[in-house]
Amino acid sequence: MTVVVLLGAPGAGKGTQAPVLADELGVPVLASGDLLRAAVANGTALGREADRYMSRGQLVPDETIVRVFLDRLEQPDAKSGAILDGFPRTEVQAEALDRALAEAGRRVDRTIFIDVPVEELVERMANRRICTANGHVYNLASNRPKSDSVCDVDGSPLVQRPDDREETVRARMNEQIPPLLEVVEHYRNQGIIQHVDGREPISNVSARLVRALGVAPGQVST
Ligand code: AMP
Repeated sequence: MTVVVLLGAPGAGKGTQAPVLADELGVPVLASGDLLRAAVANGTALGREADRYMSRGQLVPDETIVRVFLDRLEQPDAKSGAILDGFPRTEVQAEALDRALAEAGRRVDRTIFIDVPVEELVERMANRRICTANGHVYNLASNRPKSDSVCDVDGSPLVQRPDDREETVRARMNEQIPPLLEVVEHYRNQGIIQHVDGREPISNVSARLVRALGVAPGQVST
């Protein structure tokens, strides 16, 4: 049973790298952004509420995302563990997660922070495209699909997320990085965080992340 929290600013590569770690450990990826986007697409009450925040680059209120995400974490497919992508994003969420896991006799086993400078993040997100069917992630500069508008894997249309436009990206950074740093601090205090340099090509970052999984928490992997 392994719960791994993957941390990083928007665009740091969590969505690309989480499946690599999930394969390595044989556990699912639980991505809070995907849960919310599915709710928006289905037009549920949650989706309508979340959309108001997401379209402005703001965080969805803690109370809402904690309820939705912890429900998802209790599903049977996550019994043997999970890679958490995008949750927790605030100290309040990190504490709620610790409590929920403790009640079930579980805990966050380790946390990996993918570190990328802000200016590089803004540029990456301008070039990011996601597939409309399954959320496969591409980058028109560094991880090009064969065609700019079609997913290599499932042939569905590739789109720019509405919140990846530059003005929303800057709002997301301003809004989301300060609470992210508090979450990093939360796990640093628990001695279970490792930093991985996220500026390298995708395959190098993947290799570093897999290596980080094999290193005792708190030690630095290179
Ligand atoms: P992501 O796909 O992880 O970049 O998430 C897209 C958007 O969903 C974010 O910009 C937030 O508006 C919202 N969101 C995702 N996860 C969370 C979270 N843990 N707390 C609050 N808002 C979230």
